[in-house]
Amino acid sequence: MKRFSVFAVAREAMRQHNGWGRTWSNPEPKKSYEVIIVGAGGHGLATAYYLGKNFGITNVAVIEKGWLGGGNTGRNTTIIRSNYLQDPSAALYEKSRSLYENLSQDLNYNLMFSPRGCMMLAQTQHEMRGYKRTAHANSLQGVKTEFIGPERVKKLCPIMNIDGPRYPVLGALWQPRAGSARHDAVAWGYARACSEMGMHILQKTEVTGITKDSGCVTGVETSRGHIRCKKLGMVVAGHASVVAEMAGFRLPIESVPLQALVSEPIKPCMDVVVMANTVHGYMSQSDKGEMVIGGGTDGYNAYTQRGSFHHLEETVRALIETFPMISRLKMLRHWGGIVDVTGDRSPILSKTPLGNTFINCGWGTGGFKAIPGSGWGFAELMAKGESPLTAEFGLDRFRAGRFVDESVAAGVAH
Ligand SMILES: Cc1cc2nc3c(=O)[nH]c(=O)nc-3n(C[C@H](O)[C@H](O)[C@H](O)COP(=O)(O)OP(=O)(O)OC[C@H]3O[C@@H](n4cnc5c(N)ncnc54)[C@H](O)[C@@H]3O)c2cc1C
Repeated sequence: MKRFSVFAVAREAMRQHNGWGRTWSNPEPKKSYEVIIVGAGGHGLATAYYLGKNFGITNVAVIEKGWLGGGNTGRNTTIIRSNYLQDPSAALYEKSRSLYENLSQDLNYNLMFSPRGCMMLAQTQHEMRGYKRTAHANSLQGVKTEFIGPERVKKLCPIMNIDGPRYPVLGALWQPRAGSARHDAVAWGYARACSEMGMHILQKTEVTGITKDSGCVTGVETSRGHIRCKKLGMVVAGHASVVAEMAGFRLPIESVPLQALVSEPIKPCMDVVVMANTVHGYMSQSDKGEMVIGGGTDGYNAYTQRGSFHHLEETVRALIETFPMISRLKMLRHWGGIVDVTGDRSPILSKTPLGNTFINCGWGTGGFKAIPGSGWGFAELMAKGESPLTAEFGLDRFRAGRFVDESVAAGVAH
């Protein structure tokens, strides 16, 4: 595979770009692998990548029922931040954010990482207290955030109306090195690097069953036949409960639709990410000029990758008070994903009741930002049986009541 560089681009420009190879290979499945990862979303692919890069484990297959990155990884609104309240969360999300800083160079693939800054608006006294507390917690955790007043908010985002009648802007939790990245590119960059290491990415291959012997998994049944493995990683987000059921255990997960939309493209008018958690809406502007808008989850369980229209209407109506200019914009398209939500709004990165099987899920509405850090920690957990990054995110916390509670802090947003 050719490396991308200014020289390679110049050379290919001279010969009508005929010399680029395929970005990743499309192999036939082998009969067995050392490690199988189910799910070629960002988290599955990042896990495979760090298994190879950090532990030299390359006899790996990543099995995907659709196309890679076609789940939540290709459907999210790409907010990257690490301003979480609890120490284990801040450690995991900050590891991830810091990996994003150099990930394009590491993967030799342009992820369009844009650390443009993210603010979470405080629009009630309760939020003021909450975000000030988070800013103090972040400074102890080594995460750079600050609480800023309404004048600074207006300066950073002039299109905002800070004097709304219901929810005036009282301040914001500001993280200057937060931002966004191109979501598909994250999946594609990891897939290309995995393929380069000789790993197999098996698209259009659905896992339909899991075979076991003496408390351990021996392989998976797929739409392309049985494939054996020594270790199994389940990384299927909204379908985590379905795949866990195939393995014979249950998860404390709810699967719900989460929607987003983009407007018609307009001239650049907003160069920060803004989240308004009281009204449950958030917005940024894509490089193409579209206003990228999202809200909270739909109020029912589903697997349909689409949501109810009234929910979108509610999100936009709530945002119009703070961003009056969006009332004049047309919606270009909208979509939904199925997110896997836990009670404490923190992920599950864990061993399972089956000896050689591990699960990575529960990222809910906010796992895009966590892809590099999650892959790093989960690969370590799968290779060595433990990782400092994942230690507090085990399944046993729900039995012991040892929650990593982000449900009234950073975990309800994106
Ligand atoms: C509308 C929306 C907005 C969001 N906004 C943000 C945001 O701004 N910032 C943020 O950090 N996060 C955001 N998220 C959350 C984020 O997208 C997810 O947490 C993250 O992408 C999850 O990645 P994943 O790799 O775990 O899952 P996915 O990308 O969903 O990958 C799981 C894969 O498993 C495959 N699979 C399932 N079952 C099987 C099977 N039986 N066999 C084989 N393959 C299977 C699926 O096809 C899928 O491709 C948003 C999500 C949505 C839906």
